[in-house]
Amino acid sequence: MTGVSSSHKEASIKTGEFFVPDSKDKGVQVKNRISKIKNVIEGKLKRYYGRSLDNASKEEMFQAVAMSIRDIILERGVKANETMEKRGLKKLCYLSAEFLMGRALVNNMINLGLLKEYRAVMAEIGYPFEELEEQENEAALGNGGLGRLAACFLDSLSTLNLPVTGYGIRYEYGMFCQRIVEGQQTEVPDDWTAQGDIWEIERRAEQLEVHFDGTVEEVWTDHGLTIVHKNYQTVMAVPYDMPVIGYDSHVPATLRLWRAECPAVFDLHSFNKGDFVCMLQQKELAESISKVLYPKDDHIIGRMLRLRQYYFLASATMQCLVREHKKLYGDVRTLPEKVVIQINDIHPALAIPDLMRILIDEESLGWDDAYDIVSRMFNYTNHTVMQEAMAAWPEQLFKSMLPRVYAIVSEIDERFRQRLLKAYPDDRDKTAQMSIIAYDEVRTANLCVAVCRKVNGVSQLHGRILKTRTFRDFYVMFPGKFTAITNGITQRRWLAAANPALCELICDHIGDKFIRDCRELERLKPFVDSRRFLDDFAVIKQINKKRLSEYVQKRQGIALDAASVFDVQAKRLHEYKRQLLKVLHILYLYRHFTGNDHYVLPRPVTFLFAAKASPAYWRAKSIIHLINVVSTLVESHPRTKDNIRVAFLENYNVSLAEHLIPAADISEQISTAGCEASGTGNMKFMLNGAVTLGTMDGANVEIFDRVGEDNIFIFGAGAKDIDRIGTENTYNPKDYFDRNEDIREARGRQRPVSGYLPVSVVWGL
Ligand SMILES: *Cc1c(COP(=O)(O)O)cnc(C)c1O
Repeated sequence: MTGVSSSHKEASIKTGEFFVPDSKDKGVQVKNRISKIKNVIEGKLKRYYGRSLDNASKEEMFQAVAMSIRDIILERGVKANETMEKRGLKKLCYLSAEFLMGRALVNNMINLGLLKEYRAVMAEIGYPFEELEEQENEAALGNGGLGRLAACFLDSLSTLNLPVTGYGIRYEYGMFCQRIVEGQQTEVPDDWTAQGDIWEIERRAEQLEVHFDGTVEEVWTDHGLTIVHKNYQTVMAVPYDMPVIGYDSHVPATLRLWRAECPAVFDLHSFNKGDFVCMLQQKELAESISKVLYPKDDHIIGRMLRLRQYYFLASATMQCLVREHKKLYGDVRTLPEKVVIQINDIHPALAIPDLMRILIDEESLGWDDAYDIVSRMFNYTNHTVMQEAMAAWPEQLFKSMLPRVYAIVSEIDERFRQRLLKAYPDDRDKTAQMSIIAYDEVRTANLCVAVCRKVNGVSQLHGRILKTRTFRDFYVMFPGKFTAITNGITQRRWLAAANPALCELICDHIGDKFIRDCRELERLKPFVDSRRFLDDFAVIKQINKKRLSEYVQKRQGIALDAASVFDVQAKRLHEYKRQLLKVLHILYLYRHFTGNDHYVLPRPVTFLFAAKASPAYWRAKSIIHLINVVSTLVESHPRTKDNIRVAFLENYNVSLAEHLIPAADISEQISTAGCEASGTGNMKFMLNGAVTLGTMDGANVEIFDRVGEDNIFIFGAGAKDIDRIGTENTYNPKDYFDRNEDIREARGRQRPVSGYLPVSVVWGL
């Protein structure tokens, strides 16, 4: 579509006809496909809902369209499975407590190469395509970056035609919905399954039992001494499969989510005793396991329900793997040749001892054989250096909830200690720090590092920090285990789906190969100074800013000025991510505007924030309040309101990110260096042509290396400086406060107060 004028581009986006077929021959094929798709949708509406194209409700139309897409993916899945089984291909199992999938419909259309056809069909029917998109509930089964990485990996692995199954929990309530009421965050439950998720298939016949509590006993049998787990509570794990198709892929990925249920015939004993209440309590306990996602992205509190969730995921998945492997290959000893397991942070770590348990107790292998198998199958990715995320489980809780797994972890610990004692015969402190069970705690991070083949850091800097700080002693012992594969994002969702106009512009210049392989984007380099390209890019950015403004207007009733610079910080709210630093910057500007009649900015700026705070994270929530108070403050002053605006966008999730990121001019990546393991938001913004303002942290360092200092704005202390300040123990924030007038001025009107006051009081509002 070269030679399209900018104004035409703008018009065609609005009418949703951007992807019209461009050549005649292709045109005939496309026409055929379009009429076929239309027939399929019509058929679905008739057969499933007794409706026609004219009288279907929004919901029915969405379901029918989604079903037509699902059929294609499932058919491909059947073929892929046959091939895989015939050839005995090795499979990746990706275990993660979180999958932040977002909406699937448009992404699936793009990856099947059918987006323009579907757009054309909807145009023919006279049904607005955007309404179709908006109809879909998003699967928000994750907190932030860690869960989104899992989702992006499924897309990428399928695009590479590599067989992968993601295993997770089918939380009935995903990440809470955030509403801002009087400037403050309130949480509303996310009842995402209410509409009956169209993408998932319940596979009740494949349900498994997971056992909790009870006691273990040693029993002599014909095979010698065996361990028997008695008086346990049974929870059923029912799998729900969601197909995920990569770009032009023949091998769809599967996301298998486990739902916890009470066994159908549960505890007849107490029922017979007439203990109806106890029976119902058990039912509720069982079902609470997959009830809700914990809304904290970097914190493991020693909560019982969380441990239950993690073991539930681990055990259901390991049993499922062993069962499938035996069905295909007969012998558990070949497991490491056919299956590799990646654990996404330590949440699924109990898969390690649970696979040991299955191999020993159920498959009658000896310890050494079982350990040999397990130690060749697992790899672990670490996502955070925040200490609280490393926190361990209270030993007594662990032991009473999971007695058999506890015994296995103890044995792994015992044998690992023997090795530690050989390596460090005189260093009791070190061995205690490195062991898996110590000081009445079970530390799953140490378990992962001790057993897994590879320990991955999610950026080069983070990988270095793991080796030199977090797991320093382990690195000395196992230098070969440590790697650093920097996180990534899928350009299918974050460019092709989120920013169709920019995608089209790039296609016009370098073809569409980059949609499969993002290294192809290098071929844009010759256009770095092309006036036409830059003008078209500017037009597209402007369209995206208008699109975001309309979206925000509709959802929150806030009017954004699309002519101003959009300076965006969108990510979970956390002190280390330093939204507060951005607020101080805004207050600094406010002081200058109100104190100096001649102070001007080159262009008006709108500061956009989007962030959820963990509901129990008081300080994070008060920063959200502060942002909203500052928004009112700058709005209320005649000098500032035409130059700076502040808007807090409600309920940051994948769908909002898809609108927000393509509209950003400036990407705020300003975490305290050494704290953000990688960041992936930084990559999404850069891919959409926003300029990064950031610190030398996480993957920003690598972005800096690739784009050069002229194309990124870096400030602040590096990870090493901050490390030094920390170890020298010289950091005193008050010194900076006393020395620097701007910081003092940004403080607010009140004198420093002891304790916390509501921000509105501090700011005199
Ligand atoms: C990418 C993404 C994140 C991660 O953002 P960071 O800036 O890397 O913390 C969090 N939430 C959503 C919805 C995302 O899409």
